[in-house]
Amino acid sequence: MKTLNVSVVTPDGPALEGSYEMVSVRAESGELGILPGHIPLVAPLTISAVRLKKEGQTELLAVSGGFVEVRPEQVTILAQAAEQPSEIDVDRAKQAKERAEQRLNMAKSEDIDQKRAELALQRAINRIDISENR
Ligand code: ATP
Repeated sequence: MKTLNVSVVTPDGPALEGSYEMVSVRAESGELGILPGHIPLVAPLTISAVRLKKEGQTELLAVSGGFVEVRPEQVTILAQAAEQPSEIDVDRAKQAKERAEQRLNMAKSEDIDQKRAELALQRAINRIDISENR
């Protein structure tokens, strides 16, 4: 079975490196299923789960946006943050979700804070969803 080398890098350093048969990511333009030999491309990612498949198993990774660069035998993901399900602190994510919801329920005058709160809410929900699949 042909494989792809996958590297996930964050500002804190490498988050994951390995060989996989298929990688699925959610780009801003939609879901992207990447198999070995895929045409080269670069795409912005949403706050979402990356799915890494090998030997009938699927591993998940929470990513907080960033970019995916695809080459025929290599997928590189540059993300602001990336966590495997076992690394996710669910209580912290639930607290972040509550804080974001409170901010969103406050006066809507500060547009920048609203956008920040929406993104914080998306990150928290993504982490909670992914941790439930561990
Ligand atoms: P918080 O408000 O809890 O800090 P956040 O969404 O603002 O959440 P980020 O800025 O996305 O946090 O991430 C900062 C760092 O903390 C990253 O290294 C990220 O991997 C880590 N991190 C954030 N939330 C969690 C979590 N619930 N469990 C584990 N690591 C987390």
